[in-house]
Amino acid sequence: MTRTAVVAGAGIGGLAAAAGLVRRGWQVTVLDRVPAFRPVGAGLVLQANGLRCLDALGLGAAVRERGRTDMSAGTRTSDGRWLTRVRPGDLERRIGTPAIGVHRATLHELLLGALPDGTVVTGADVEAVTEDGDVRWRGPDGPARMRADLVVAADGIHSTVRRLLWPEAAGAARIGVTAWRGVTAWDGDLTVGITWDRGAEFGMVPLTDGRIYWYAAVNAAAAEPANSPARLTDRFGGWHDPIPALIASTGTVLYDDLACLDEPLTTYVKGRVALIGDAAHAMTPHLGQGANQALEDAVVLAAVADRPDGLARYDRERRPRSQQVAQASRRIGRLGQQLRNPVAVAARNTMMRLTPPGLALRAMTRFADWHPPALG
Ligand SMILES: Cc1cc2nc3c(=O)[nH]c(=O)nc-3n(C[C@H](O)[C@H](O)[C@H](O)COP(=O)(O)OP(=O)(O)OC[C@H]3O[C@@H](n4cnc5c(N)ncnc54)[C@H](O)[C@@H]3O)c2cc1C
Repeated sequence: MTRTAVVAGAGIGGLAAAAGLVRRGWQVTVLDRVPAFRPVGAGLVLQANGLRCLDALGLGAAVRERGRTDMSAGTRTSDGRWLTRVRPGDLERRIGTPAIGVHRATLHELLLGALPDGTVVTGADVEAVTEDGDVRWRGPDGPARMRADLVVAADGIHSTVRRLLWPEAAGAARIGVTAWRGVTAWDGDLTVGITWDRGAEFGMVPLTDGRIYWYAAVNAAAAEPANSPARLTDRFGGWHDPIPALIASTGTVLYDDLACLDEPLTTYVKGRVALIGDAAHAMTPHLGQGANQALEDAVVLAAVADRPDGLARYDRERRPRSQQVAQASRRIGRLGQQLRNPVAVAARNTMMRLTPPGLALRAMTRFADWHPPALG
């Protein structure tokens, strides 16, 4: 008999889980509360682990065609001095797969295209879920309900499903950092760059089609009441080229107060319900692993969900690793972007300048060099 799954949330994790389950023969319905998908967001970095998951879903080649693989990478100080550098191809030579910058909307569209027509229902706000697989939502035609063998809760950092079924869990908490993101036209140097100053970071990732994705993050005791691009220019206007020019040339600048799940959950599974992606382990962006970990969850869940004790196995395989990545991401943020003390900043910079390139590369691949199970 065909197994049925409902996926709550059609973000990167939910769509990838749906694509994996469909490949394994499940009948899948994906529900998302947005009335329609628009090309929102900015860029994401797909690391080797995420790219290998997309390979398992049959989408690796399509993503590689839409991303850049020929980039150097490095860390700088705000006056432009290099702390670490990685040459183009170094990453691929070391672990066989590069890292790729893609617009989130591009990845989202590719994942959507991998699903059979009619799989995804938009305008469907999931309101209630039980451990035995009963899902209720408010849809375009009013209240609706479905019972499934598996419920995948992929409804993001402020997950409704987590709040309902994990009432003991603390929700997402702000980390004291606010961030701006943008995408703009670019035909200059192709370096994936991170630049640090005291309590601030600017990152840039070239995308395909002559665009570049950038983000800027600063320590902030309280969230900004609203997006204030002037504050962005004040803080980063004197940084090395091309940072001021990138900011000045960007039309729409997105603004977020960053949050993460600070208290790791004790299980990702209750009954027939499995949490994945940000719903399970929303992490800080400092390691660039949020979307990559969601892809790992999706592929592992799809690979094991039809096996005896499949959900227990999913929890065993995914919880320790994703929580370790989340903790490391938090630590790196504190050591990098969030560090303010001038003596500590100078010591960190000296240490980074003296780190041999091989060691820097090993640090970069520590979490990225992971292989997903085959989906058959
Ligand atoms: C619109 C959007 C733009 C983003 N842009 C970027 C970006 O530019 N760069 C970056 O690094 N990260 C971005 N992110 C976050 C990034 O996609 C995630 O951190 C990561 O990919 C993990 O994905 P996820 O599938 O767990 O969660 P998400 O990608 O956040 O997806 C969660 C989905 O669940 C849906 N949802 C939530 N509640 C309900 C409900 N009750 N019922 C039905 N559906 C529900 C949401 O509409 C959303 O589509 C963005 C997220 C979103 C939603």
